[in-house]
Amino acid sequence: MTQNNNLKRNPLPNNKGYFGEYGGSFVPPQLESILQEITDAYEKLREEEGFQEELKYYYKHYVGRPSPIFHARNLSNKIGGAQIYFKREDLNHTGAHKINHCLGEALVAKAMGKKKLIAETGAGQHGVALATAAALLGLECDIYMGEVDIVKEHPNVVRMKILGATVVPVKSGLKTLKEAVDEAFMAYMGDPVTQLYAIGSVVGPHPFPGMVRDFQQVVGMEAREQFQEMTGKLPDNLIACVGGGSNAIGLFTAFLDDQEVKIHGVEPAGLSFKPGEHAATLTLGKPGVIHGFKCYLLSDEAGEPAPVHSVASGLDYPGVGPQHSYLKDIGRVNYETINDKEAIDAFFELSRVEGIIPAVESAHAVAYAIKKAKELGPDETILINLSGRGDKDIDFVVDKYGADYGVIL
Ligand SMILES: *Cc1c(COP(=O)(O)O)cnc(C)c1O
Repeated sequence: MTQNNNLKRNPLPNNKGYFGEYGGSFVPPQLESILQEITDAYEKLREEEGFQEELKYYYKHYVGRPSPIFHARNLSNKIGGAQIYFKREDLNHTGAHKINHCLGEALVAKAMGKKKLIAETGAGQHGVALATAAALLGLECDIYMGEVDIVKEHPNVVRMKILGATVVPVKSGLKTLKEAVDEAFMAYMGDPVTQLYAIGSVVGPHPFPGMVRDFQQVVGMEAREQFQEMTGKLPDNLIACVGGGSNAIGLFTAFLDDQEVKIHGVEPAGLSFKPGEHAATLTLGKPGVIHGFKCYLLSDEAGEPAPVHSVASGLDYPGVGPQHSYLKDIGRVNYETINDKEAIDAFFELSRVEGIIPAVESAHAVAYAIKKAKELGPDETILINLSGRGDKDIDFVVDKYGADYGVIL
C-alpha cells in the first residue's frame, strides 16, 4: 500500500461549500463565524504532516486499516452472474465505516481546543464511533438519539454508556434521526465555542460534507489499489447504500474520474413509495434546505422535512448529502432503491451463503448487487461497500422477521 495522503484534495466543493447548486451553509448568524473557524482550522490541518500522520496512525493501528476486500465466490456462484466483491468496512474497530470520519472530526476538535463532541445518532453507529474517538482522545461526548432508535438499537446505547458518553433521549416528533439532529443542533447552538458538532455523515452546512467525505475517501483509495492488485482491473460496478451518503461517497470518490466504472447508490424504499413509508430522497425528493444545507429533500406540503421510514435506522433521513444530489443531476451516479423486505432477504442470504452478517443498512447494497449481478456476465465485477456488521441489528431483525427465515428462539 503506498503512503498516499488520505486527505487528498478534491475539485468540489467550491470555497463557499457548493457542489453545483447543492450544499452551502444556511445557518443562523451566530453560527456563521463558528463554521468559518472550523473551515479555516480544517483547511490548515489537512496540509500539516503531523495531522496527516496522526490520522494515518490511528487508521492503521486503531481501526485496522486497510480493511480487506473479499471475493464473495459462494454468493457469485449461486447467482450465476457477475463476480461480487466486498470492501470489508464491517471489520473496522466498532464495526462500521463511521470510525473513519469520527477520528478525523475528533482530531480536528482536539486541535481546535474543544472540550466536548456533540452529535446525533440513528442506528447508534455514529454515536458509538464518536464515543470511541472521544474516549481515545480524551474528549467529553453527548449523543442525541430518538427514543424509537434507543429501543431498536439497544446494544449500541449500552456501548456508548460504557464508553463514557452521555446518551440524551429525544422525545419529539417521530423520535428518530431527524428529531435527534434537530435537538443536537439546538444544544450545539447553546455553546458552539467549547463544543464541536461532529456530524455523522456527508451532510450539514459547509465544511462538513466535504470534510467528512475527505475522511472517508480512504475507503475508495484503498479499494482502488486492492481491487487492481486482486484482479488486474478496476471494478466494473460500485454499489453502496445511501443514507446521508458517507460510506457511498467514501468508496466512490477515488473512482469518479474513471468513466468506465459504473457507480450505483442504493436508497431505502421502506414499506412502499407512499409518503412516510420510505426514505428514497434522491429518487422521490426535490431540492430544498434541511439542517443548514441544500440537497434533494423529502418534504411535506408546507415544505418541511417529511416523516420517513426504513428498516435501517441509519438510512432513515429525509435529506441526503449535497455531493450525491450533484452527482445525480450530472448523471455520474445511478441511484436505485431497495425495500425493507429485499434488504432483510439479503441480510439472511449473505449470512447463510458467506457467513457474514451485514448491517441492515449495508444489506440494501447487497440486495441491489444481487439484482444487478443477475443482469451481468461472469466476467463482470461488482464491488460493494459493506459499510457495517449486523451485530447491532440481530435482536430487532429476529424479533420482527426471524420466523419467516426459520429463526425461532
Ligand atoms: C450510518 C450507517 C450507514 C448510513 O450512513 P451513510 O452516511 O449513508 O454511510 C450505512 N451503513 C452503516 C453500517 C451505518 O452505520
